[in-house]
Amino acid sequence: MILIVDDKPENIYSLKALLTLHSFPVDSALSGEEALKKILAHNYALIILDVQMPGMDGFEVAESISGYSKSKDIPIIFLTAANTDKKYITRGYSSGGVDYITKPIDPDILLLKVKTLYRLYEQSRKLNEMHDSLVVEVEYRKKAERETSEKAAELRSILESIPQIAFTIRNDGSLEFTNSRWLEYSTSPVQFPPTHEEDKDLQQEIRKAITADKPLELEVRLKKINGTDYRYHLLRLIPVSENDTTVKWAGTFTDIEDQKQASRRKDEFLSIASHELKTPLTSIKAYVQLLERESKDNPQFKPYVERTLTQVTKLNSLITDLLDISKIQSGKLEFNKKEFDFDAMLSSLLEMTRQNHPDYSLEYRGGTGLQVYGDEIRLEQVITNFISNAIKYSPKAKKIIVETKADSGHVHFSVTDFGIGIPKEEHKNLFRKFYRASGAAPHFQGMGLGLFICSEIIQRHHGSFGVDSEPHKGSTFFFTIPFNKQTS
Ligand code: ADP
Repeated sequence: MILIVDDKPENIYSLKALLTLHSFPVDSALSGEEALKKILAHNYALIILDVQMPGMDGFEVAESISGYSKSKDIPIIFLTAANTDKKYITRGYSSGGVDYITKPIDPDILLLKVKTLYRLYEQSRKLNEMHDSLVVEVEYRKKAERETSEKAAELRSILESIPQIAFTIRNDGSLEFTNSRWLEYSTSPVQFPPTHEEDKDLQQEIRKAITADKPLELEVRLKKINGTDYRYHLLRLIPVSENDTTVKWAGTFTDIEDQKQASRRKDEFLSIASHELKTPLTSIKAYVQLLERESKDNPQFKPYVERTLTQVTKLNSLITDLLDISKIQSGKLEFNKKEFDFDAMLSSLLEMTRQNHPDYSLEYRGGTGLQVYGDEIRLEQVITNFISNAIKYSPKAKKIIVETKADSGHVHFSVTDFGIGIPKEEHKNLFRKFYRASGAAPHFQGMGLGLFICSEIIQRHHGSFGVDSEPHKGSTFFFTIPFNKQTS
């Protein structure tokens, strides 16, 4: 909008008519004072200012305008008498476009000047806008940079304060930061510490994790620069993300040698104890079985002998489990694989289970009609474990469904019960050594070894296994194995 300032309404009128005709929006003021008020309240692109006015003259108005930051850049066209000295015209008005036009006004010249200054003002306004948005952008970037470096400093001081060896790496796998402990194990802050020759290649594993954008956990043996012995360390590497993008990786090596040794000693103890217990127990079992036969006609002793035999059988299976575990750990669990009649094995097992648990209804569905290549005794052990768990963990619902089927290359086996069930978040742990689900541990006897042994047996048959279960509804444990000999 253009502001015309003149004390004579007729002058305003004619100027307004001329400018409106050329599509310029126009406002007017009849005195310098009124003009100043309007300039403060509105935004003008150009001011046409009469120099000779009673009260505040045009120069005084221009001088005042130059003092306000809001209006100092508005161009001005002074309307002067023909004899006004040019030097007065720019008096007190240093920035912005200034021009003048002498009276009587030539409309063409006025329009030319208005157009030029109007355009000038528009351009400088746009430049100012761009400048302002650039200032905002620069400020934003500076702030983001400040925040990033603050975060990095924070991460570094955390990594420096922890007792582990700690580091950060860039996405290309190169080391960015290492804490002071690093230099106890590596001669350089840009080189990984050497690992034991039998361990996996550290940098290769790290590169794989970065490529897959997945955290890494790896046990490696490290040795202090001046030390002689390697100690087991757990490497944990996790991505550091900003706006869902991995920007770097933070890692730690934690010394786990003491835990490793304790666990090794525990395994050794279990192995020795189970071996040493097994021999006398086998004799006890044999003698109790003998006693059972002999006490048939002696009702006075019979129940005691039977109870002893039940307890000895339980003890025997516990010790057998412990022995199996130590064999798995030392890689000595042996398999005697050959072809056997899967359905016949299952039928006789079910028959025996029915005899031992007459209060349970054991429903059998399907059948494979197949000769399966595998270790019959070990697979029977898996099935017995699944079924005895189904019985043990469903003390109220006495129905159990055993199902088998075969497809082009595999035998599928499952046991379903309607017992206590297992919460979903625990499913992944059930096949781990010594794991017992929260609902079972306080109320049912067990050591949490059976399923671990089953998982090992199934894996050694190149099979897969799993569980479907819901608390208070029941569980289905299943496995699948190839029925033909595997070449791998
Ligand atoms: P154990 O029965 O001796 O504890 P297992 O290794 O056979 O050991 O089973 C591990 C855990 O899995 C059990 O402690 C129990 O919590 C859970 N579990 C196994 N089978 C069932 C089942 N049929 N129903 C509910 N929980 C089960």
